Amino acid sequence: MKIIIHGGFFSESSQSDDTKLKKQNALKDIIEKGYEFLQTHSALETVIYTTCLLEDCPLFNAGIGSQIQADGKIRMSAAIMNGSDCKFSGVINIEKVQNPVLVAEKLLKEEDRVLSGQGAKQYANSQGFESFSTETEERKKEYNMKLKSSKTGTVGCVVLDREGKLAVATSTGGKGFEIPGRVSDSATIAGNYANKDCAVSCTGVGEDIINGALACKIVTRVTDGQSIQSAFKNTFTELNEIDGFAGAIGIDSKGNMFWQESHPKIVFAAYDGGEIALFE
Ligand code: ASP
Repeated sequence: MKIIIHGGFFSESSQSDDTKLKKQNALKDIIEKGYEFLQTHSALETVIYTTCLLEDCPLFNAGIGSQIQADGKIRMSAAIMNGSDCKFSGVINIEKVQNPVLVAEKLLKEEDRVLSGQGAKQYANSQGFESFSTETEERKKEYNMKLKSSKTGTVGCVVLDREGKLAVATSTGGKGFEIPGRVSDSATIAGNYANKDCAVSCTGVGEDIINGALACKIVTRVTDGQSIQSAFKNTFTELNEIDGFAGAIGIDSKGNMFWQESHPKIVFAAYDGGEIALFE
């Protein structure tokens, strides 16, 4: 059993050592809880549970603590993909729910599995999700300074369970200060993809991740016979050629975990019951 999570990027120039320590501690705590949950649950259940914990942590740009768009509203995106049956579901630009990933979970059982905007919110309401403001003081301050900080905070989780099944979930508040209506990569197959061979979650500049078709490309390369290391390396070489800014985490069906970034440095933790590997 393996679990790897990310919390976006860490910027040495704009974030303090104290923030780094807080993020490290939060990831350690969350990955331990996720791993414990995994002992008695499937990969799919575990990515949803763990992504909820990440969404509930205001240090990250997903759920509570999501960034604010140019018109002062928060619109969040989240997706889940179950590797064993290749089912993807997601919400794009949903407003006022606490855990977008839980709405994506509900959509897994629907025929229409990716909803956006008002439709996503109406669906969430019909499923009993209450209106919830995910705005925090910190994000409001950033918004008032008109900060676009695509390098901080999207979350993701990839899991391999005891049956060898893979799943992935990714959740984001977007870039911050974006044009309303902009679509993040996180609820697309570029940012969040899994099949029975490999599962990958991405963070970084959504437009670059989509240009590089990142998650889907890495997973397809593993299916076509490349090792997870080569699949990441080749895909990031191509991303660098188009000057893309991104990071990704993944696990293959043999239990190999891998992470890579095009720029320093992705905030991640990986755990298999031994020692936790943590970003420094
Ligand atoms: N990928 C996200 C987006 O572009 C942002 C991030 O990962 O920080 O919406």
